[in-house]
Amino acid sequence: MVGGQIALTYQVDNYPGFPDGITGPGLVDLMKRQAEGFGAEFQEEEATSVSFDRTPFTVSAGEIDFEGRSVIIATGSKSRKLGLESEERLMGRGVFVCATCDAVLYEGKRVVVIGGGDSAVQEAMDLAKFAKEVYIVHRRARLSACKCLADRATQNEKIKFIYNTEVTEILGEKRVEGVRLLSQDTGEEWSMECDGVMLAIGWIPNTEILKGHLELDEGGYIVSKNGVDTSKAGIFVCGDLNDRRYRQVITACGSGCIAALEVERYLTEKE
Ligand code: NAP
Repeated sequence: MVGGQIALTYQVDNYPGFPDGITGPGLVDLMKRQAEGFGAEFQEEEATSVSFDRTPFTVSAGEIDFEGRSVIIATGSKSRKLGLESEERLMGRGVFVCATCDAVLYEGKRVVVIGGGDSAVQEAMDLAKFAKEVYIVHRRARLSACKCLADRATQNEKIKFIYNTEVTEILGEKRVEGVRLLSQDTGEEWSMECDGVMLAIGWIPNTEILKGHLELDEGGYIVSKNGVDTSKAGIFVCGDLNDRRYRQVITACGSGCIAALEVERYLTEKE
């Protein structure tokens, strides 16, 4: 499927040029058609290995080898999951991973945010602009978010904190109806009604097949210089793979544009 995470997003309200917003799949379709108009060809295959030792570089998808004098890697990241069957089943039906994208859907509702880092707290504040109540459920005794964010969230009357507690189940058949909670202090289990569950327990960059081929940091992100250069000349990176902070379509598009311009420059200089 073309489009990655944005294709899973119901509504995009913060991409320029769409004053009434646009659906995620709708935006992807427009981008795809525009790229095809300039001659881009799409082939839906899963890249399984790479060879960057010599040019042309090779990206393999099973038996098929794609060769290029330059490569842009834009494989993005996936949100870390709890590993529950219910979170997969209810993804997009009350379970979500981006408050900026989905907060407006929870106007006047009760939302549970799972996690205790910067994302959980930042996104809880974004949600609180719309939601009636936001509960941050964290498995530790205190937040790991920076003090400035944590202080602001604590002062927000709509945000409440449940510490030392795990979410063991997301309840609901067709839509989220609640969560099952387990206290690590007392072993007590209880259910709480809610309309949405946001996963904010970190991100995993999709760099599995790049290990040993490019320099990665301890979190698996591609180490980049000047935003889009990797440790290998001619191989460029863009989007969430080297963005731990903003993770918006507009920022990913901006870095994709920079990567494309750098490819053009690299190829011109080589000729
Ligand atoms: P993070 O810092 O890795 O925090 C992940 C949180 O999820 C931690 O509280 C962790 O708790 C919890 N967690 C992980 N696995 C879990 C599980 N299986 N069940 C329950 N809880 C789990 O990730 P992040 O908050 O997305 O931040 C990522 C990076 O982006 C950071 O460098 C952050 O500074 C940056 N960021 C910055 C801003 C900002 O400056 N405004 C906003 C967002 C993100 P444990 O400690 O128990 O593992």
